[in-house]
Amino acid sequence: MLAQEIIRKKRDGATLAEAEINFLVAGLTDGSVSEGQIAAFAMAVFFKGMTLDERIALTMAMTRSGTVLDWRGEALPGPILDKHSTGGVGDTVSHVLAPIVAACGGYVPMISGRGLGHTGGTLDKFDAVPGYRTQPDEATFRRVVREAGCAIIGQTAALAPADKRFYGIRDVTATVESIPLITASILSKKLAAGLQGLVLDVKAGNGAFMPTVERAAELAASLVEVANGAGLPTTAVLTAMDQPLAPVAGNAMETRFAIDLLAGRRADQRFIDVTLALAADMLVLGGLAQTTEEGLARARRALENGAAAERFEIMVKALGGPADLVARPQAYLDAAPILRAVLATKAGIVSEIDTRGIGVAVVALGGGRRVASDSIDPAVGVDGLRALGDSVSPGDPLAIIHARTEAAAD
Ligand code: URA
Repeated sequence: MLAQEIIRKKRDGATLAEAEINFLVAGLTDGSVSEGQIAAFAMAVFFKGMTLDERIALTMAMTRSGTVLDWRGEALPGPILDKHSTGGVGDTVSHVLAPIVAACGGYVPMISGRGLGHTGGTLDKFDAVPGYRTQPDEATFRRVVREAGCAIIGQTAALAPADKRFYGIRDVTATVESIPLITASILSKKLAAGLQGLVLDVKAGNGAFMPTVERAAELAASLVEVANGAGLPTTAVLTAMDQPLAPVAGNAMETRFAIDLLAGRRADQRFIDVTLALAADMLVLGGLAQTTEEGLARARRALENGAAAERFEIMVKALGGPADLVARPQAYLDAAPILRAVLATKAGIVSEIDTRGIGVAVVALGGGRRVASDSIDPAVGVDGLRALGDSVSPGDPLAIIHARTEAAAD
């Protein structure tokens, strides 16, 4: 087989055979297909799309490009479940959701990513916790999942290596926003984690990669069809990202927000509603609840009675973080020295929020990366963000900027 013939076929809008897709993915993984050929293939898919069978074949081939975890040897007494969010601003749901599901009897081996563009990444938020190891060896990962019921770690080189190379090429060739390619990228990593059920949180709005509900629904449908076609029971929830999900954005501050929520020191209705809805779907998928209502009730109980906070604490300690992080987050999470309020100049109601702009501001403060090699300042970000529909008077703060320097705050 020749890579250029397969690319030509896709360029001309034909359907690829499974063997052709397998050939390209094998070449993507071992380097025998060049970067230029992969880029051309990605652009052909961007314009011509892929059938369901092609998307399943691509996803499966990328899954098989590395290790596929198998949890059967652990004989865990509950289902292996996970959630994936397509990303946004102030989306720190994983910190709260994974321990809730663990407290309800599920096992959550969550392999999460770093921030992408203006969106925050779960992994960067855990890097804000001193000592917490986001890259443990496989034996430690397995042990923590067994003991805590959840372990949130980063992608290892062994899991879906084809995606790692492919994503890097897509990132610099304007081919990220292709539904077949996003589908295969997300699902290959989830399938490689050996899950028995997956819930997708597909974001729509001006802080999401899919700005319209229609595009988000299209992505959700593709993800659900392909995941189920690949043998992984999956459902999706569409949630709004037309404002930050939490009233904070920034790595240490979002981690603090999640911990305070788990500890019952803070509440936020919108954030809790999304988290509990995802938890309920995971519990139903895993057979831990018969109905969504039962799942919601179980998840709420685990959050309110401290069982989820306990799971979080066990996970953090087992991965090298402070044993008393839940009780004393302020003792461990870095805080920025410069606080500056952004004040309303007139009375009104918050009717629109530039969510992407807030994410970009966090990156500009040093809380995200401009280039892949950048290091992150965990302390910076914004908090006290007003929600849509809030009334403000002149002089009321719309947000508080947390910056490392006065110049950055400017
Ligand atoms: N997240 C991924 O993991 N892959 C994509 O292609 C887009 C978002």
